[in-house]
Amino acid sequence: MHTSLAALFDSTGTPFRLEAVAVPAPGPGEILVRNEYTTLCRSDLYTYLGKRTEKTPTILGHEIIGRIAALGPDAPRSDCRGAALRVGDRITWAIYASDPCSCMARAGIPQKAPDLFKYGHEQVTASSHLHGGLAEHCLLRRHTPVARIDAAIPLPVLALINCSFATVAGSLRLAGSVADRTVLITGAGMLGLVAAAMCRAAGARRILAADISTDRLTTALRFGVDHTLLLGSGKPDLQTQLAAQTDIAPVTVAIDCSGVPETMEAVLRSLGIGGTAVLIGAAFPQRPIQVDAEQVVRRLLTIRGLHNYNLDDFITAISFVEQHHNRFPFADLIEDRFSLVEVDAAFAHAVASSAHRVGIRT
Ligand SMILES: [Zn+2]
Repeated sequence: MHTSLAALFDSTGTPFRLEAVAVPAPGPGEILVRNEYTTLCRSDLYTYLGKRTEKTPTILGHEIIGRIAALGPDAPRSDCRGAALRVGDRITWAIYASDPCSCMARAGIPQKAPDLFKYGHEQVTASSHLHGGLAEHCLLRRHTPVARIDAAIPLPVLALINCSFATVAGSLRLAGSVADRTVLITGAGMLGLVAAAMCRAAGARRILAADISTDRLTTALRFGVDHTLLLGSGKPDLQTQLAAQTDIAPVTVAIDCSGVPETMEAVLRSLGIGGTAVLIGAAFPQRPIQVDAEQVVRRLLTIRGLHNYNLDDFITAISFVEQHHNRFPFADLIEDRFSLVEVDAAFAHAVASSAHRVGIRT
């Protein structure tokens, strides 16, 4: 029998269970993928640490890249950009599968449709298996946006497309054009660095990055950031540091990747007239933030939130990586030295180290 090795997550503090699972033949509309590479996203680490809860057992990992192993009957023969799909093609796919005709999907929010299925987040059951990146195979459901990738791009970078790059692409869609504007990025982790690179490529005039880590800010300078603002105890607050940058036009686009309430409040206090703040970092439970409604009114501010992304964002992300993967040193952000059987060590290292991403060859 053809089997696939899968790393099952049961609960915090319990080692992963490596199991050989029977590989199913893809059903109608389905595509069987041989996973090649998975990077551990921050939300994988939060599940691993018990900061967020998934129904278990589950197969974590949703930043995945792989090759088509088999096409089921009625499976799409072309991808979301019109390219043909054949066995052996390298593909990336969206984190979600959902009915494109649902009201949510038609409103541009397929990631919240009623029939949503999310790779790397689903419970393993007798009828639903192999739906995450930490396994040798992944079975793609009907209505999964799929894209063929032909360019020679390192696997660890390609794995980032379907969460980090696509989420940031969505945040820039909500921010509006960044061309010739001053952009503030708070939180210089993976999302913040991708945001800086995408804003640079999109023609931002000045890009400022704020973080509590000197190392992260130093790295940010390699991803298009012009000015860094070090936050933390003993340092001037964000608003004060921005006010001191008198040679820079006011910030009119802010992307918060930190998810830190005090930082998000400072971002809203610092935005220039007509500015837009897009919040993408606060994807975990925390205290409510305070918003000065009078200032939102008088300064004509826009506050937007984004969780995951839609098809347009996914395609934008792929195009960005294809065009700019050589311009910014993304591969340097991924520690590439673990295999699937070392999944426990990989998670332990990801939690203990300051690595932007830890990658697993599957
Ligand atoms: Zn993610």
